[in-house]
Amino acid sequence: MKTAAPLMLFNSLTRTLEPFVPLHVGEARVYTCGPTVYNYPHIGNMRAYVFADTLGRVLSYKGYKVTHVINITDVGHLTDDADAGEDKMEKMAAEKAQSIWDIARHYTEAYWADVKALNIRQPAHWSIATDYVPQMIEFAKSIADTHCYLLDSGLYFDTSTVANYGALARARTDGGEGRIEEVAGKRHAADFAIWRKTPASETRQMEWDSPWGRGAPGWHLECSVMSEALLGLPFDIHTGGIDHREIHHPNEIAQNQARCHSDDSGARYWMHNNFLIERSGKMSKSAGEFLRLQLLIDKGFHPLAYRLMCLQAHYRSELEFSWENLAAALVRLKRMVMGVTRLRDITAAHKGPVVELANFVDQFDSAVSNDLNTPEALLVLEAALASSAKDREVQIALVQKLDSVLGLNLFSLTRADLRIRPKSAVITEAEIEAALADRREARAAKDFAKSDAIRDDLIAKGVEVMDGDPLGWDWKLEI
Ligand code: AMP
Ligand code: ZN
Repeated sequence: MKTAAPLMLFNSLTRTLEPFVPLHVGEARVYTCGPTVYNYPHIGNMRAYVFADTLGRVLSYKGYKVTHVINITDVGHLTDDADAGEDKMEKMAAEKAQSIWDIARHYTEAYWADVKALNIRQPAHWSIATDYVPQMIEFAKSIADTHCYLLDSGLYFDTSTVANYGALARARTDGGEGRIEEVAGKRHAADFAIWRKTPASETRQMEWDSPWGRGAPGWHLECSVMSEALLGLPFDIHTGGIDHREIHHPNEIAQNQARCHSDDSGARYWMHNNFLIERSGKMSKSAGEFLRLQLLIDKGFHPLAYRLMCLQAHYRSELEFSWENLAAALVRLKRMVMGVTRLRDITAAHKGPVVELANFVDQFDSAVSNDLNTPEALLVLEAALASSAKDREVQIALVQKLDSVLGLNLFSLTRADLRIRPKSAVITEAEIEAALADRREARAAKDFAKSDAIRDDLIAKGVEVMDGDPLGWDWKLEI
């Protein structure tokens, strides 16, 4: 076995691959921007957490003690990432005529259910933004005199007071996105709210007293405050979707620079996942029934097929969602689960030439160490599953280890778990099995008219009979 490959990560700050060097020996401190809990997360949002989870798992595999924080944004995020638009939480609460706290609880729990279904590891801390408002006010006070200015609408960060504002986004500091008109009196287009005063004409469900009037914190403030509180500034890695590279993270960086009186961004590595895209627009939360994980489950797909679909693409590539791609990922997952079953079957004979398992370890290590190359790591896992080794127990332990890095749960899933089970099915699995048993009997008795009639009846109920299916699915429900 070769020595372990150095872990290389793509740092959005420098737009290059860099070796991971932790700030504290043997530790990795990671902060991930979490969801705004005004609605269900769509599957694109969940790609961001599958990515962050993969990063955490790879860091653990490479021997680091990982402290991961994911926040829950229950205050402050406007319908525009900058300072325009309405507060997402207040807007949804008004639409539903519900308490904002109930909205936040409901959608936080829905998000956590998706996290669990996708086998995303629990972080060390789920930090809830509204639990940190006093710390946000303290943070804001510490930078207010040197980096902020007060307008009627609240306290604003002056982006010209820090070095290289917007370097992460590779943006020009003069903005130019037309946002300057949105808030009267802003000095620069890119300046952003640290504290938003409640206008006299408005009532808000969530507001707090502050030295700048009663109101609510600006969205960007929470992540600087919670990452400092739970990980200490600077920390190792900050993650989020690629949209955050443009506004949210440059603003966090500016706040961190102000807070630390330095040019340091506050995190050594800024990492961003690319988007999951969907052409028909169903991923938009405003599109009525949008693509959330529960929809995939209701259509009959096991959620881990979606996790595999994410891992099949590199996190920095765009990934297009389609039901066909999801179905293909499900079949691939099923083949892997069948591979594990074969491996654990002590009566099954070895096939093919005996291979050296250490090669798989090296290949897998190189793949995940190369900026989390999960598409390649999956191929290594499949090769390890399909091979014959001298010692089956060692091979099983190896596959288990590789699976624990990719989080596909291959050792607890069964082939039956992966059967497509649409919620809309009009026939139960027991009824299908009983009809197929009758059909087998009819065929044995050469009563082909009866066998065909049973098959037609099943087709009418949305069941496709697949005699001799190589994956052992002798029937399939239509989705
Ligand atoms: P939000 O709840 O809007 O703050 O988004 C939660 C996370 O999902 C953030 O890290 C976003 O950058 C990320 N995100 C949003 N849309 C997508 C998408 N289509 N594909 C991948 N990540 C996304
Ligand atoms: Zn954030």
